[in-house]
Amino acid sequence: MNSQESKKSRIYLDYAATTPVDSEVLKAMIPYFSDKFGNASSVHSYGQEAIVALDKARQIIADFFACDWREIIFTGSATESNNLAIRGLIKETSVHIITTTIEHESVHESLRQLEKSGHKVTRVKCDKEGLVSVSSIEKAVKDNTILISVIYANNEIGVIQPVKEIGKLLEKINKRRRENGLNKIYFHTDAVQALNYLEARPDWLKVDMFTFSGHKIYGPKGISGLYVRKNTPLNPLILGGGQEFGLRSGTENVASSVGLAKALELVTKHRKKDSVRITKLRDKLLDAIIKTNINIKLNGSLKYRLPNNLNLRFAGYDNETLLVAFDQVGLAVSAGSACSARAAKASYVLSSLGLSDKEAKESIRITLGRYTTDAEINSAINIIKQSLKQLS
Ligand code: PLP
Repeated sequence: MNSQESKKSRIYLDYAATTPVDSEVLKAMIPYFSDKFGNASSVHSYGQEAIVALDKARQIIADFFACDWREIIFTGSATESNNLAIRGLIKETSVHIITTTIEHESVHESLRQLEKSGHKVTRVKCDKEGLVSVSSIEKAVKDNTILISVIYANNEIGVIQPVKEIGKLLEKINKRRRENGLNKIYFHTDAVQALNYLEARPDWLKVDMFTFSGHKIYGPKGISGLYVRKNTPLNPLILGGGQEFGLRSGTENVASSVGLAKALELVTKHRKKDSVRITKLRDKLLDAIIKTNINIKLNGSLKYRLPNNLNLRFAGYDNETLLVAFDQVGLAVSAGSACSARAAKASYVLSSLGLSDKEAKESIRITLGRYTTDAEINSAINIIKQSLKQLS
């Protein structure tokens, strides 16, 4: 088999790590690399062309989220958006923040940084199914709490958290706090993995800030966003020319912003159909793999789960060995989140579910996407069965 043929027959089931750019997204972006390359801050016609495109992209995104265009901040990555939401929120001396044990590293690291400067963090645990309860968040609230950050759907196990319910609770809590002269508690969610499948309007979720990322929704890498509700007191992390309403300086990435807007338009078009089709394919894959071997278990709730996610423990098999075996015959899956894939450490998300280090290291993440076909799922089932046979 030559390299061209082997490329053709590869199967990509790692859509949670990143997605290919949709051809419509690419088409929308291309003019902004060449003909319309202007700097959006320039006064001349080139600059005007760029700022018009940027404004239009921002408006499309605002329409998608049913918010004001001034509430959309473009950033360079979801990692940066999470940093801005958490580290940028203006703090009085020693404040308290609530989060969960199953957030993305960018949330955890931002909070660790705040702890070093004297702020306090409560990390609410999830249950064995990977779910965080609303009441455990409620119990963690203190007088000096200023922020709650809860991931909408986890990147490793795809378990969907009750963000809307926490938002509703927080509305009540904030009303009481107002009456008692206490500060508002702001609510942030990392919606990076959820956006392809779940409703994410901030007013519906009742959040003040949420993070989204281009490359998880068939848009380009290196462009993301943070929704910031009006009057949320944020300080910029990056200083300079004052772009993005002063919250994120740096020459605007017009082509990628246009791409991100197009990607969101396509989410609107595909969301319902994709969710149904991908759930069916995912369940077919799950049934077939589980039937293969009684020692294969699903990590995390099936009921409260993104349609495209499986996280499976293959008892007795090391996940690195499985990953390599699958990859050698053309199946790309992952041993956890892409960011920590090279770290070879047991997943802290799986540890939060109660898995031992050994069990966590026997687990792999399989994520489907918009371009996954039935034929690919059939091939993936065969590859997994064959590889397990050969490795045992
Ligand atoms: N948050 C979640 C839930 C993610 O899955 C990821 C990427 O894997 C990120 C944040 C970081 O995204 P980015 O690659 O845009 O920095």
